[in-house]
Amino acid sequence: MLKIVYAPDPMLKKVCEPLSQVDDHHRDLIKKMFEAMYEANGVGLAAPQVGINKRIFILDSGAREEEKKPLIMINPSLVSIDDKTVSYEEGCLSFPEHFAEIDRPDQLTIKYLDENNKKKTLTTDGFTSRIIQHELDHLNGILFVDYLSRLKRDVIIRKMKKFKKENNSSNDKKI
Ligand SMILES: [Zn+2]
Repeated sequence: MLKIVYAPDPMLKKVCEPLSQVDDHHRDLIKKMFEAMYEANGVGLAAPQVGINKRIFILDSGAREEEKKPLIMINPSLVSIDDKTVSYEEGCLSFPEHFAEIDRPDQLTIKYLDENNKKKTLTTDGFTSRIIQHELDHLNGILFVDYLSRLKRDVIIRKMKKFKKENNSSNDKKI
């Protein structure tokens, strides 16, 4: 099982590299990313969150429901995005137990490659659009806490440092 990188970590602040072509190695990574995302009860996961500096993310707006809707986006780029913004409570697998209301545009159109190197375009809004914007940010080293006031962000980062410390020490005990 892939290990999810928790914030704060320099890996999460890097701008990721585009793929020249999707190969079996990437398809294997994507399969493992889905396993890690579903295991963590997440709805989206970007490659840097598992320590890979590539422009790949996955999402499933139906991850917590019966009907799964897995999507794979490689080398994604926005074609257009709404002016109108909506507020929604976001979380992130790199920030377990932390949530915050974030304003983002609603509707967007995005183009990307799928796992078979096919060019795709998707226009969407609501939850799917929200996840796409969050994951796309990950590929550019932007985290949801970067939209918060410095005070709120610092509180979360401090708690995450403590959480990582506790997690590491409990792992040591197991060994
Ligand atoms: Zn995230």
